[in-house]
Parts: sequence; C-alpha cells; structure tokens
Amino acid sequence: MDNKPKLQANEVWKVLRLALPEEEHFPVDVKRVALEISKAKFSDPITEITACPLPGFEGMLARNQAGTKWMIAYNDKLESDGRIRFTLAHEFGHYLMHRSLREQFKCTQEDMHAWDSLERAIEAEADTFASFLLMPIDDFRHQVDGQKFSIDLLMHCTNRYGVSLTAAALKWRDISNGRVIVVAAKDGFLDWSCSNNAAYRSGAYFATKRDTVEVPEGSLLNSAVWTSGGQTGSIRASAWFSKEPDGMMIEEHAFVIEGKDYCYTLGVLLLPDVERSADEEDELLTPLSGGMSFR
Ligand SMILES: [Zn+2]
Repeated sequence: MDNKPKLQANEVWKVLRLALPEEEHFPVDVKRVALEISKAKFSDPITEITACPLPGFEGMLARNQAGTKWMIAYNDKLESDGRIRFTLAHEFGHYLMHRSLREQFKCTQEDMHAWDSLERAIEAEADTFASFLLMPIDDFRHQVDGQKFSIDLLMHCTNRYGVSLTAAALKWRDISNGRVIVVAAKDGFLDWSCSNNAAYRSGAYFATKRDTVEVPEGSLLNSAVWTSGGQTGSIRASAWFSKEPDGMMIEEHAFVIEGKDYCYTLGVLLLPDVERSADEEDELLTPLSGGMSFR
C-alpha cells in the first residue's frame, strides 16, 4: 500500500486545524467533516449521511444517477458510537480516494474471502484513512509516549478519539517500537492477528488466513472474562512462538469485547526485543492475517 490514505487524512487535518479550535478536534465529527469538506472542495459532494437498514453491511457510499452527489449510509443496527464513527470515516475515505472507480461501495466488517486483490486493497486503504483521520499519529503519540502499555491507556485513547478499543490497539501497535501483536480470539482460536513491523521482522506473526491458529493452553486469552479494566498476565513466549528463546516471557493483555452480534477477546501480546541473524530474516514468509477489523 502506498501513502495515499495517510496523505488524504493529513489533507483533511490541515483544514480541520485551521477551522476548529483545539478543544473541538476530538472525537472527530465525521458527519460534519465529510459534508462540509466535500461541499467546499468538489462538484459532486456528499449531501446526505443517514442510518438505514443495510442487512449484512456496515456502511455504504453511493452516487445519484446524475452523478452530481453522493450519500453515505450506515447500518442502523450498529450499536456503538465507535463503530459508527469508524464506518463513516471509512466511507468518507472511499469518497476521497476511490469514487472515480465506481458509483457504489458496500462495506462489510468481515467476509474478506470473496474479495479480489483490488477490492482488498481499496478496503484496506479506506480503513487506513479512517484510522489516520480519527487518530492522527502526532496526537496519538502525544497521548501515549513514554507510558507503559495498559488497557487503561488504551481506554483513554478510546474515549479521546471515540473509537473502539480494537481500533486504538491497532494504532498503538503501529507506533510502538517494541514487538507487538494484536489478535482477536474466538472459541480458543485466532480469528485474525496483526503484527507490527518489529514483531514481523523477528518472525513473530501468525498466518491466520492460511493456518488455523489455536490459542495456547495457559494463555490468558483462553480464560479471559469481561471486566471493565481487562486482564493482564504473562506466558512463556515459546507457547505462542516456538522459535522464541526458552525463558522469554510474553506479556498478555486481554479484553473481552461483547456486542449484540459479535463477541471476541481482543489480545495485545508484547514481546521483549531480540536480535536475529540476517539468515533467519531471509526465511520469513509474507504474513497473512485474515479478516482484521478495526471496529
Ligand atoms: Zn469499504
């Protein structure tokens, strides 16, 4: 992926910083931003954003027949503000980056199996745009710099940016220098996983799209129950990754996410740094992480 989604989000932020006092920056009012920016900059603006029944879809961006305006719809069954905000930002991303490609985008949370590579690429771009619009990297760094990871810290970000805990965890993974893997576990298996560059380069990643990955026995992710503050523990690194040295421990953070139509355990795995030889790095495969979702 190129830098297009990040650059687009930066462009929007240049306008927001000029237009809004700092105390009104967060959480981003995506409805207002999408309506006003598209109206100010383009001849085919977004004129309507509405909740409506969209069975099986999170959101939709659609053009009128004359090609003069667009509307965003989000599923009226979405129950969390964070999910709605992320969906709107995702659709606004399609509008800014992809609207010349087609006249309608219908977006699901998962179900990536049928996607061809172009479809996958534009969905990933819309997600990246949404992440950078809602949580600009400089502000996010400012919130977390120098602090040890905790679910509390993540909750602070969730509240500031009005996003899901999972979206905040994925952002934290992006900016962390250490080895971080964010996973979603369901019924004892990983649903998806996402390693940051440092973890990936060291071979610490799961190919959840290719392989069935079982949560290791003794992992907190198998026993986590819902608590408002989540749970923290540690386990031998080799339980998750057989190549990690004996005696090394992984810090596990788990938070049970429960919604009307979804339930999973969000896990953040923190690994101590390691040195690896160039030979070992050559053995690495491309990571395949299935069905990741920011919502
Ligand atoms: Zn989409």
